[in-house]
Amino acid sequence: MHEGVNKTLSSALSKQAIANRASPGFAYFFYRIWSNILSNPVVADKLTSSSSNIRSARLWMPEQVLFTPAALDEPWGQQILARVQSLGLPVEALTHNRLTGLRGEDERATYDIAKRTLAVVTAPPSQLKLSPIPPSADWQFHLAQGCPAHCQYCYLAGSLSGPPVIRAYANLPQILENLAAYEQKDQVTTFEVSCYTDPLGIEHLTGSLAECIRYFGTREDGYLRWVSKFDAVDELLDLPHNGHTRCRVSVNAAPVSGRFEGGTASVSSRLQALRKLALPRAEGGGGYPIGVVIAPIMAVEDWQMHYTRLLDEMSEVLDFDSDLTFELISHRFTPGSKDVLQTWYPHSKLDMDEENRSVKRNKFGGTKYVYDGDTMKGLRRFFEGEISRRFPKAHILYWT
Ligand code: SF4
Repeated sequence: MHEGVNKTLSSALSKQAIANRASPGFAYFFYRIWSNILSNPVVADKLTSSSSNIRSARLWMPEQVLFTPAALDEPWGQQILARVQSLGLPVEALTHNRLTGLRGEDERATYDIAKRTLAVVTAPPSQLKLSPIPPSADWQFHLAQGCPAHCQYCYLAGSLSGPPVIRAYANLPQILENLAAYEQKDQVTTFEVSCYTDPLGIEHLTGSLAECIRYFGTREDGYLRWVSKFDAVDELLDLPHNGHTRCRVSVNAAPVSGRFEGGTASVSSRLQALRKLALPRAEGGGGYPIGVVIAPIMAVEDWQMHYTRLLDEMSEVLDFDSDLTFELISHRFTPGSKDVLQTWYPHSKLDMDEENRSVKRNKFGGTKYVYDGDTMKGLRRFFEGEISRRFPKAHILYWT
């Protein structure tokens, strides 16, 4: 991002904060303009063309917030209702529990409508039967499905059915209560909550991530893990987490984050948020265990140089002792995710040429395209070596 543009935006965002206090109506109007700018892929691409600047993500303000009758019956649903009403967002109470009428003329139009919609629903009973999620955690659970960002490689493409509406769950207390059955006595049990959403990206609308952190702060053996590309962490700093939540940010080299991660906070801003989360309470931080997820790692031109810059910035920002882990995930795609991504982002420059990849099959017969063996080895050697050199006390949890 050009320095001048960055300053203009920062000053506009400060005005937004003032407007928020003075008049929810104006704040909403401002957010709509900003949201429309960033959801234009061409403009978003330019505005995010460098990750070296600190650029907070604007808080996502949906154009419509739908509540199902079942969601309105839930006390947590009422809590979400109060939050979105206090922000002046347009709320619609549906007459039935199914979401309908959210399709546009084509897939791209459906995507546009969906990404501007928050639907507050109850999680179906199937969500109470948890699945393992190796290597990230023992179990996954969900406080929402769908994400307000616009990553052109999005992991959700092909894994969620229907329009990518952001669905927040109103029966969170029930979802949390259900987790205890999956804990193993006297054994650390980890729970990942970011598989189907970016929980920080919608936190200002739901408060659900904070509630999860408070819940895990009371557990003996249960530990929470979440990851984000957003940066609004201030409300999380004082929570009674008791060391049972590991907060992670997902980061990437400038050519990847700048070109492919629309609607997110800049990488610099994510790293600053991580610093706040990790700093001791006495220094104004959250005192959390933290993690960095470098994903998806792409062998773009000059990748060593770009990822070296990223790691250098990380060591400058995380220049104090912390409980830090790394997760390293190379880029991959499936035939299904490629199809969906091409309808969502028809002009994307993301490399998904099968010719340049190796095929990997899973035990269920599914196919994914990954980098070839030599490229994988080169990437892995680079990251493991450079991370160990800069962060000798950090644990690299896995490479995939
Ligand atoms: S932040 Fe994650 S879930 Fe959200 S659009 Fe990007 S890749 Fe998809």
